[in-house]
Amino acid sequence: TPELARAESLIREVDDFPSQGILFRDITPLLADARAFRATVDALIAPFLGTFDVVAGLEARGFLFASAAAYTANAGLMPIRKAGKLPRPAAAVDYSLEYGVAMVEAHDDFPRGSRVLLIDDVLATGGTLAAAHKLIERLGYTAAGTAVLFEIADLGGRDTLNDPLLHTVFNG
Ligand code: 5GP
Repeated sequence: TPELARAESLIREVDDFPSQGILFRDITPLLADARAFRATVDALIAPFLGTFDVVAGLEARGFLFASAAAYTANAGLMPIRKAGKLPRPAAAVDYSLEYGVAMVEAHDDFPRGSRVLLIDDVLATGGTLAAAHKLIERLGYTAAGTAVLFEIADLGGRDTLNDPLLHTVFNG
């Protein structure tokens, strides 16, 4: 659609952020455009409508899309946070980064067996979403799929994540 084409053109490429040699995809210009933002939220959830009860968003940019998606789809919202931010995490999963380790945590405020759709803005190496996926299962929920706005195809995140229900709106 023209709205999605416009949305894609509003993902800004920034050289050397957050460090030398990294090409960062900045989604804030897309958020700034009402029609592009709406079209991308709709496109994220379109393949999954009717198959999830909860939308889980990854801190921090994933929150922006997950919140709008949950509202639109009449679903609950689960923030998946970096370590140490939640007052009483029910589960935590750690994963490795290029340098060091990171951890994701969540609460268990939903009925067991809830069907959870994971949302994030960018799929890079896939480590973050793979950990989030484990977290959903550890909490006793069912993964309904993974929806990502932009897939950096070269980094192989799709293989690391290995989710047959992975949907990405844009890639490059
Ligand atoms: P991964 O674990 O797949 O390597 O990294 C994905 C996480 O890092 C996501 O939460 C995503 O928000 C962030 N990320 C990695 N690269 C980029 C990028 O180029 N642009 C944006 N907006 N986020 C990125």
